[in-house]
Amino acid sequence: MSQATSHPDPDCIFCKIVAGKIPSRKVYEDDEILAFHDVNPWAPVHFLLVPKQHIPSMAHVGPEHEALLGRMMALAPRLALEQGCNPYPQGGFRIVTNTGAEGGQEVHHLHIHVMGGPRPWLRG
Ligand code: AMP
Repeated sequence: MSQATSHPDPDCIFCKIVAGKIPSRKVYEDDEILAFHDVNPWAPVHFLLVPKQHIPSMAHVGPEHEALLGRMMALAPRLALEQGCNPYPQGGFRIVTNTGAEGGQEVHHLHIHVMGGPRPWLRG
C-alpha cells in the first residue's frame, strides 16, 4: 500500500491544521513539514511532526517518501532539544508512530509523536 495521496482530505483534522483552518501551537514549519504541540500531551514535551501532504499512515509509505521521512526523522532531535528535552544520554526523547487500528492510530494523517522531558510522564 504505497500510493501517494498528496491532496488534502477535507475530513482530516491535520490537513485542516496544515491549512490553518484549525489553530495549533506551531513548533516548526517548512514547505513540506509542520510540527505542532499535541493538544493532549503525555509528557512535559510532546509535539507532532506531520507531512503537509495527506499520507494516511505509515502503511501508505513507499520509496517516493524516503526523502520526506528522512527529513522528518532528522528534524526530530533538533526540535526536541529546542522544545526542552534534556540532552542525551541522561535526557533524550521517545519517537512513536501509531499505525492502523491495532497500532493505536486515531488520526489518519501520518504523524510522528516526539515526547520527552523529566519523568514521570502522564503515559508512556
Ligand atoms: P494517534 O493516536 O497516534 O493517531 O494520535 C493522535 C494525536 O493527535 C493524539 O495524541 C491527540 O492528542 C492529537 N491531536 C488530536 N487533535 C489535535 C489537535 N487539534 N491539535 C493537536 N493535537 C491533536
